[in-house]
Amino acid sequence: MALSNRSNGFAEKILIFDTTLRDGEQTPGVSLTPEKKLQIAMQLDKLGVDIIEAGFAAASQGEMEAISLISKENLRAEICSFARGVKKDIDAVVKSGADSVFLVIPSSDLHIQRKLKKTRNEILEMTAKSVRYAKDAGLTVELGPEDATRADMEFLKEMITKGISEDADRVTPCDTVGILTPEKTYKFYSELREAFPEITLGAHCHDDFGMAVANSIAALKAGADEVHVTMNGLGERAGNAALEEVVVSLKLLYGVETSIKTESLYDTSLLVSRLTGIPVQPNKAIVGENAFVHESGIHTHAILSEPSTYEPIPPEIVGRTRRLAAGKHAGSRGIKAALEEMGLHPS
Ligand SMILES: [Zn+2]
Repeated sequence: MALSNRSNGFAEKILIFDTTLRDGEQTPGVSLTPEKKLQIAMQLDKLGVDIIEAGFAAASQGEMEAISLISKENLRAEICSFARGVKKDIDAVVKSGADSVFLVIPSSDLHIQRKLKKTRNEILEMTAKSVRYAKDAGLTVELGPEDATRADMEFLKEMITKGISEDADRVTPCDTVGILTPEKTYKFYSELREAFPEITLGAHCHDDFGMAVANSIAALKAGADEVHVTMNGLGERAGNAALEEVVVSLKLLYGVETSIKTESLYDTSLLVSRLTGIPVQPNKAIVGENAFVHESGIHTHAILSEPSTYEPIPPEIVGRTRRLAAGKHAGSRGIKAALEEMGLHPS
């Protein structure tokens, strides 16, 4: 996909890779049946995501069933499955009928030595072999160096070079434990973009410090052309970058469009919350219950004459409506407007 064609740093086309059904399902307490996964996948497709990571085919029979069910639906989006760098995982992806594999292989010494008990050379060999094996099986391959933001940069580059030499289609270094900052992210992706000008480069950011969205945008600004996101920011521990926040920030703060039909964001959020059983916090940006509710009298007064005074996001573009709350801080105009909404006309 290559270097940005835009003067503002962003790639011409940004791929939205949704991992609600994989990383999102790793939210503690969440377990989705294949039927529920299909329902969410169909909504994500309607929303306009480019790639749906539907699960981890080798993990269980249920996961295999879910990915098969979604693959058979012939959705517009590419259907992807997670796999480790081992044959049996890749075989399961092929069997599931998915179009692509997100092939995750550790890249930091910490993960290589402590988790896999392997050497760097063995990792390079595993990368080459498993990318080749998946490509020969007809899969689109996205290589995901795990814990890449704590890896030695020179080794990470070697690993990516190995993947590319075996025809990996995309590379997404993962900020597995969410330790990047926007500044570090920008530097990290600028360096990778310079080293690999042609490859489709993705960002996979976790929200341990609440910076997943800011880091994802910094990565895109530095030339990444794909971003991993989840609805409502679900995911391991503190979650992943929230799809709704990344997409609406790109659109309204940076003037960058994606394939997402933003007016379907709220419906998608509600469906995901209902089927996963994970409520959305009321003050959550964009999809939280209070995101378009105005309480203080000063605010409601101004909103009634000009919404943009206190509304940075027009509610209708994300499928929502404005509400004026008649609470402790309400003023008379707000109360009057709230009553009029109910069909009452106080004198
Ligand atoms: Zn992750």
